Amino acid sequence: MDIGTIHVDVLVAGGGAAGTVAAIAAARQGLKVLLIESQGCLGGSRTATGVDTFYGFYTPGNDVRRIVGGIPWEIVQKLVEEQACFERPNTYGAGTGITYDVEKLKIVYETMAVEAGVTLLYHSYACEVHSEKNQVTHVMVANKSGMTKVQAKVFIDTTGDGDLAFRGGAPFEKSSLNEMQSLSTIFFLGNVHTEEAKQVSHKELVRLMKKGNRLGDYKLPREDGSWHITPHPGVVQCNMVRVPGVDGTDPFAVTLAEIEGRRQVQEYSRFLKENIRGFEQCSLLSTSQYIGVRETRRIIGDYILTEEDVVEGRKFEDVIACCGAPVEDHQPGNGTRWAYVKGDGIYHIPYRALVPKLLDNLLVAGRCLSATHGAHASARNSAQCMAMGHAAGIAAAISIAENKAFHSIDVDSLKKRLIEEKAILNEAVETSVQ
Ligand SMILES: Cc1cc2nc3c(=O)[nH]c(=O)nc-3n(C[C@H](O)[C@H](O)[C@H](O)COP(=O)(O)OP(=O)(O)OC[C@H]3O[C@@H](n4cnc5c(N)ncnc54)[C@H](O)[C@@H]3O)c2cc1C
Repeated sequence: MDIGTIHVDVLVAGGGAAGTVAAIAAARQGLKVLLIESQGCLGGSRTATGVDTFYGFYTPGNDVRRIVGGIPWEIVQKLVEEQACFERPNTYGAGTGITYDVEKLKIVYETMAVEAGVTLLYHSYACEVHSEKNQVTHVMVANKSGMTKVQAKVFIDTTGDGDLAFRGGAPFEKSSLNEMQSLSTIFFLGNVHTEEAKQVSHKELVRLMKKGNRLGDYKLPREDGSWHITPHPGVVQCNMVRVPGVDGTDPFAVTLAEIEGRRQVQEYSRFLKENIRGFEQCSLLSTSQYIGVRETRRIIGDYILTEEDVVEGRKFEDVIACCGAPVEDHQPGNGTRWAYVKGDGIYHIPYRALVPKLLDNLLVAGRCLSATHGAHASARNSAQCMAMGHAAGIAAAISIAENKAFHSIDVDSLKKRLIEEKAILNEAVETSVQ
């Protein structure tokens, strides 16, 4: 049943890292923006999935430079004001992470979106996309009211899975199930004596996992993983679960993955409690609201970012974001493949990687960007997803004002406006969060 039509300038579908920033950026340009989100909060992987550390703001290694500014950095500054985050040097080499209070981030995102004038619509799913002659005309949104028709001048797909672009007819790529990155259920444990627990090295943790599996005491599919402190005393976040071979756009497969993920959480929690100093009194506080999906559809755009671009530190004229994060490919089994950016340690994400082929009035931003499997494993970091969102929001305003397809907007004007809004497109800033 069609219960009405909503008219806006911009429909942003998916309120994760990329979508929230895209909606804020577009609304600040004076546009009427509707942001629809299937969950009951903003943040996606950043909040509902329980991932609590921003990577990608800084280059990894000893020569630490901040390479993301603009609205994403404003978000970090709000968390600093709230005393809700701290920096954490990363033991795996992804660069300095900014670990935050997940509940505070939900509120920061929401407050900034509301203040910018974004209309939020939660518990709503973009499910049908109608297009004619390369133009998306409207999207059907499903929620408790039934089906609502949303007409917009332009559309921004930040669903992570490229739902809009795919349904609108844009080409896409998906890795094979053997190659697609694994899913993970993040969990939080309370009542941990963190100072004691820090005395146990990662090497020792892995050794004890292997021993536990060998003796048949536990079934730990991944003999690896990490835990870290949070802004709350005695509370740690754990990233250990690995559910491989699942297509995150197949709801039946994802349902089984949710069940398997929570089963693994029980096993890892029991292992930590029984084997690792400091965890003796721990208890399980929460599991992800939904399982973390790293990679699904990669939309094919006017440019496909490659792993060679990443590793060689390539620069592009139509740069809209910088990235220094290594390729971090969570493969099935224990392994994570790492590859670092050479040269000055920074590569560019080009605007063309946000512009899907065959569609004129739709952009993608965030983890559904146009990239190969390897390049995606770097560019999907949260700071870059937010930076892409910032660019997409401003590009929406330019496309509407110029009455041009996204393929042919004035990219110099986009870059100029991004720089005016303190985005970093070329020169890294040497600074720190506190
Ligand atoms: C387990 C895990 C650990 C990670 N660890 C880190 C880390 O430590 N640091 C880091 O920087 N990055 C990390 N990442 C990567 C990073 O978090 C993500 O790549 C990034 O946040 C993706 O942002 P996004 O906005 O593109 O997508 P998402 O965060 O996936 O957001 C998409 C949003 O769209 C909504 N949605 C989806 N489909 C629809 C629809 N059809 N209609 C309406 N709404 C819809 C979803 O509910 C969600 O809110 C991790 C990812 C995972 C899964």
